[in-house]
Amino acid sequence: MDMGLLEGKFAIVTGAASPRGLGKATARMFAEQGAIVAITDLDEAAAKQAAADLGPQHIGMACNVTDKDACLRTVKALVDTWGQVDILVNNAGITQPLKLMEIEPKNYEDVTDVSLRGTLYMSQAVIPYMRSRKTGSIINLSSVSAQRGGGIFGGPHYSAAKAGVLGLTKAMARELAPDNVRSNAICPGFIATDITAGKLTDEMRATVLAGIPMGRAGTADDVAGCAVFLASELSAYCTGTEVDVNGGSLIH
Ligand code: NAD
Repeated sequence: MDMGLLEGKFAIVTGAASPRGLGKATARMFAEQGAIVAITDLDEAAAKQAAADLGPQHIGMACNVTDKDACLRTVKALVDTWGQVDILVNNAGITQPLKLMEIEPKNYEDVTDVSLRGTLYMSQAVIPYMRSRKTGSIINLSSVSAQRGGGIFGGPHYSAAKAGVLGLTKAMARELAPDNVRSNAICPGFIATDITAGKLTDEMRATVLAGIPMGRAGTADDVAGCAVFLASELSAYCTGTEVDVNGGSLIH
């Protein structure tokens, strides 16, 4: 049998317990490519179940990415077990379909904290281990919404948080490159998952689909495939990039 692209690698995927989510699909494809994966999410039982779905060697843990101590503890526990960490996917994220003037302080904090603060904290937790071995790949979930100023589902605070993720991705890429630690972003377009929490109306769906040249929503595996590429040595010379996975809905 062919060797997997991620044989011998250890990966953490945050927010990966959501059964139809991008994180779970990514974790599954990583496992299929030979990686050992930790699925982290808010709910411990859901994270453990999702990891068990991938096979007994994978680990599920609770970790709220907005809690820096929890991020440090989680990564330390994993490295104590594995001896190393090679890949981090900052996938945890929430969204809200609000207009500009509807955004209350709590909305701003909730949305920005998970995507942006969480990406910073989890990255800070893995970076010392990656740097010491002079290898690592950090993959951050941004969004087409960051690049085109919304217009999909999330409000301006979501666009801003995801644009912040792009800036953080690129700044990390610059600072970590001398230690051969790479940092790249994926910008998914409209992907069928549960992040819209039943709030996507038929009218919104039709408008979004009309703006996609490929004429369909993306699948979680469309995103997972790009994550495998960015996690693997195939992308060894790619850092600071933003990879569009959007069916042509933004071509630039
Ligand atoms: P999802 O709602 O299915 O999964 C997100 C997961 O994040 C959930 O399991 C949730 O419990 C977890 N989470 C929320 N807050 C957390 C926290 N504080 N700590 C840890 N975990 C937390 O969403 P999805 O559609 O799979 O989205 C995954 C990522 O991709 C998100 O960052 C999202 O913004 C981004 N994205 C999604 C789309 C899309 O169309 N689905 C498009 C662009 C970007």
